[in-house]
Amino acid sequence: MDWQQIFATRNSRMAASEIRELLKLLDQPDIISFAGGIPDPDLFPAQAFQQAFADALSPENQATALQYSVSEGYPPLRDWIVGQMTALGIPCTRDNILITSGSQQALDYLGKLLLSPGDTALVGWPTYLGALGAFNAYEPRYDRLDPETNRSAEDYAQAAGEGRVKFAYMSVDFANPTGRTLDAGMRERVIDLADELDIAVIEDAAYQSLRFEGEALSPVLAREIARRGDINACRTLYCGSFSKTLAPGLRVGWVCGAKEVISQMVLLKQAADLHSSTINQMAIERVATAQFDSHVAKIKEAYRGRRDAMLRALEAHMPAGVTWTRPEGGMFIWLELPKSLDAAALLASSLRSERVAFVPGHAFFADGSGSNTMRLSFSRTDDVMIDEGIARLGRLIAAAL
Ligand code: PMP
Repeated sequence: MDWQQIFATRNSRMAASEIRELLKLLDQPDIISFAGGIPDPDLFPAQAFQQAFADALSPENQATALQYSVSEGYPPLRDWIVGQMTALGIPCTRDNILITSGSQQALDYLGKLLLSPGDTALVGWPTYLGALGAFNAYEPRYDRLDPETNRSAEDYAQAAGEGRVKFAYMSVDFANPTGRTLDAGMRERVIDLADELDIAVIEDAAYQSLRFEGEALSPVLAREIARRGDINACRTLYCGSFSKTLAPGLRVGWVCGAKEVISQMVLLKQAADLHSSTINQMAIERVATAQFDSHVAKIKEAYRGRRDAMLRALEAHMPAGVTWTRPEGGMFIWLELPKSLDAAALLASSLRSERVAFVPGHAFFADGSGSNTMRLSFSRTDDVMIDEGIARLGRLIAAAL
């Protein structure tokens, strides 16, 4: 059967993720991998989860834990998130929170909710590859969100052509892939631009809790609430996740925003998967309540040490002409190579001769540019291997130059 003939048109934009393909390489023991931006499994609070699951499966809780539950999400978990959001300057109630299966599902739902084919999504150049993957299914156009330029709202609107600009999407803190953080002025500017264009703002806060140094910046949604006085009057939708703090395998994330949007997303959730795993939400709620802050403090120490090791190694081993970001948190450092170099070609030779993996940067650009860039993750490699891997990479780049 010729399946391509009957696949819906939306599939044509959905390519296999380069990163997913690369993750397969992590199984080869001799590869030093800076590719996957995933948490270090040695840092999972495994014992706390053992207890939490045992408690959820105890005689008094198992009828709840193994049963269907409400689409909005496990109420005690939503209440815990309300506390976290309020502490971030986002006063809200349970009705402003929808639990999703990872924040990835929130991105899919937001694409489904907001994008008709041909509408425009404003995204960073580069941006989170998984966001492009989620939105692609809804057949949007992409335009470059660049709050640092004074590009006018009219100009953005005009570039949208037949469709309409629907939202601006940003990974705000220690972004995937660059490690950069959007400063206060740019956060305000994005709200201004969204007001002028009358569009939504999707604030992807997946790494927000992983700040190693410097002062925390209040979220875009907190700034918008400060302007308008009420979350239900806001256009920003905040996407949070437990993947980088507690455990990605349980697939628990959330969206926080105006009730009107959350209610509509609940309908999407009902239609798609009814609700996120009850027992996983219960386990997350228990572990978060018992030790979120202390656990996050512990993992930040570990990741900070690895970031420092990678920055030292880059200083020591990279040839002149290569530049990189200095993230204040998160998991990523972004490299720019001299324009003559192609990071995808370098990866192929690196895997052959140096056995070092990274992600070529062009995958993160909606227009396929950025061939001289690469993303390095420091989250899963110890200091010694970081130095060794960066030394090999430095040699390879120097030779290519
Ligand atoms: N947003 C960003 C910026 C990410 O890096 C990731 C994970 N790589 C996600 C969202 C999705 O994470 P999850 O679905 O596990 O919450």
